[in-house]
Amino acid sequence: MGEVVSPVVPLEDDRVHGVRVLLKRDDLIWGEISGNKWRKLKYNVGALEPVLTFGGAYSNHIRAVAAAGERYGFATVGVIRGEERLPLNPVLAYAAGRGMRLRYLDRSTYRLKRTPEVLDWLRGEYPGYRILPEGGSNPAAVRGCMELPGEISSDTPFDVICCPVGTGGTLAGIAAGLSPGQRAIGFSALRGGAFLTDEITRLQHETLGHATTNWHLETAYHFGGYARTTPELSTFIEDFDNRHDIRLDRVYVAKMMYGILDLIASGSIPAGTTVVAVITGGET
Ligand SMILES: *Cc1c(COP(=O)(O)O)cnc(C)c1O
Repeated sequence: MGEVVSPVVPLEDDRVHGVRVLLKRDDLIWGEISGNKWRKLKYNVGALEPVLTFGGAYSNHIRAVAAAGERYGFATVGVIRGEERLPLNPVLAYAAGRGMRLRYLDRSTYRLKRTPEVLDWLRGEYPGYRILPEGGSNPAAVRGCMELPGEISSDTPFDVICCPVGTGGTLAGIAAGLSPGQRAIGFSALRGGAFLTDEITRLQHETLGHATTNWHLETAYHFGGYARTTPELSTFIEDFDNRHDIRLDRVYVAKMMYGILDLIASGSIPAGTTVVAVITGGET
């Protein structure tokens, strides 16, 4: 997969109160694959082996794997949580249209997707397929995301970098790629996201042999939970679009951006700080 460096642009907004906010526009990398999904796949699909992976019916990761498979010419299987529903929703219709074979697992079996029993069974059904976990978060994905901080050139030094968190691979990688003195804040898009701290620690251990101490997770900005929204969040998205002509992804990015402005308003991110907000993807 080719090299693409996404732009960094300042956010001019009267709510930043002396904090310098820069947007790392990973949503502009390639329209077919949201930005962080591209980084996470980059070192996972290089060998162009067939890929089997897991996701919910609205998964951006499923979408991204299907798009990469068609573009680079490798076979893909999507193992989808729950029963088949016809007609397919837009994400699954898109995936099927890119040649992905869809396979459904009832919810209780899906929950066991990381167990040797289920993995061995799938290996038997799909011999030769590389198996990627849900959300694509594995050490190769962490390595892909580690490259992000280095792309923000040395003439724009920053103190804090923020990203949304679903499975935690993106935050694990970004934090691992920081220079001394910089830190990362992840914003959980899931309700009860505290378990993600262990998951991010595990991913860093698997990738680096140790976990870094330069990041933390904000768990209060989930707006009801994964893929949920509230009128307040919808208003925030409309207003941000009017001000900046950027449509924030409501599942992940809008929650992070709301959280950043809230931490600035409360003084948790003080004036004088330079913050990079990673726009990990666009509204699909
Ligand atoms: C998948 C996704 C995330 C979450 O990334 P994780 O590595 O799973 O934490 C964040 N933002 C966007 C736009 C995504 O599609």
